[in-house]
Amino acid sequence: MARPTQGVRVDNALIEDFEDIRASVRALCAGFPGEYWREQDRSRAYPTAFVEAMTQSGFLGVLIPEAYGGSGLGIQAASAILEEIHKAGANAAACHAQMYMMGTLLRHGSATQKQTYLPKIASGELRLQAFGVTEPTSGTDTAALKTTAKRDGDTYIVNGQKVWTSRAEHSDLMLLLARTAQPGPNGKRHDGLSVLLVDMRDAVGNGLTIRSIRAMINHATTEVFFDDLRVPAANLIGEEGKGFRYILDGMNAERILIAAECIGDARWFIEKASRYAKDRNVFGRPIGQNQGIQFPIARAFAESEAGNLMMQKAARLFDAGEPCGAEANMAKLLCSEASWHAAEMCLQTHGGFGFAEEYDIERKFRETRLYQVAPVSTNLILSYIAEHVLGLPRAF
Ligand SMILES: Cc1cc2nc3c(=O)[nH]c(=O)nc-3n(C[C@H](O)[C@H](O)[C@H](O)COP(=O)(O)OP(=O)(O)OC[C@H]3O[C@@H](n4cnc5c(N)ncnc54)[C@H](O)[C@@H]3O)c2cc1C
Repeated sequence: MARPTQGVRVDNALIEDFEDIRASVRALCAGFPGEYWREQDRSRAYPTAFVEAMTQSGFLGVLIPEAYGGSGLGIQAASAILEEIHKAGANAAACHAQMYMMGTLLRHGSATQKQTYLPKIASGELRLQAFGVTEPTSGTDTAALKTTAKRDGDTYIVNGQKVWTSRAEHSDLMLLLARTAQPGPNGKRHDGLSVLLVDMRDAVGNGLTIRSIRAMINHATTEVFFDDLRVPAANLIGEEGKGFRYILDGMNAERILIAAECIGDARWFIEKASRYAKDRNVFGRPIGQNQGIQFPIARAFAESEAGNLMMQKAARLFDAGEPCGAEANMAKLLCSEASWHAAEMCLQTHGGFGFAEEYDIERKFRETRLYQVAPVSTNLILSYIAEHVLGLPRAF
């Protein structure tokens, strides 16, 4: 039976707090207060000024090795950046994928591909932040995806459809998972899936159509249609047919970083609720004097601190190159629940005012709900823990 990694050496390592980086992120976010985010949310606008500031600051290139023009730091530093953004009441969803999606290219791309793209991604000249995996009919069952890429000379011809492809309208490149072959008689269902790097600047109007989806949150998410789109065969990442493995490789990083965003959200809700509970007087005393108000705040705090410890553990293991699947999944589970419980607590603490747009709570409440579903739903995480950590029988 596989067990969560003990990682004694890693557990005993000093926790680096990245206070200098955190202070810089806080200073940047101070220029984008609640009213900025409210306005973007109201009009479902892409927060271009914020993303530009993040790009100029170099924060989005934090995980790219120095040899390619990035900062060469690890997932712990990236987590600190994303947590601070969310703790400031902002939202990193418009640009967080620029940080970590290049990992697939870095780990599995050819030397030429890395040299061609990574320096430009590090500088922000190229945006790689669209990820085409989910499809309308296959959903979580990735192996059932129907988008095909057929080899024709030195190109692939792509046909099919993706849904919830976030930031496609604000990205130059897309990492696309498509079927290049059916699995052989003894193969696994995921065999035959390949990753292509699609240059959307050439593709839109030439076989690629993007339609935005108006959603509960301001997430720049879209549906994408491929109609005989030609992609150069040189844009295949790694080996044909092994793409699912490459996508899986990036999932631990994504789960840890999403967990960090959840911790930022939880801390924002807890701080906001604590302040209000001290200031708001009803029945001649602060509402925070009532244990019915105190206890949910205290519980949210305890949950978020526990989730944060798991997130830190997963991040340290990841940076040490140790296995961290169990920890990354548990971090995503615990932190997304902590942020959702904190959101519920904060709304309740504010009573009617929690529903007023100008308090930002209703926006953050909607935004943090996403993490129960995307990038991976809670049930799928529980299923991973049950099967791969506890050795329970495979369910599907
Ligand atoms: C705002 C937003 C942005 C997104 N961005 C992207 C993106 O950029 N790129 C991308 O590829 N995808 C993206 N997604 C898609 C997201 O990853 C999926 O929505 C998510 O993985 C769930 O898939 P689904 O919606 O098809 O749900 P389904 O697979 O239809 O599942 C529906 C529900 O059933 C549950 N379920 C399904 N099977 C089982 C089972 N065997 N056991 C128990 N429960 C089960 C699921 O947990 C879920 O709660 C985004 C989604 C949203 C909402």
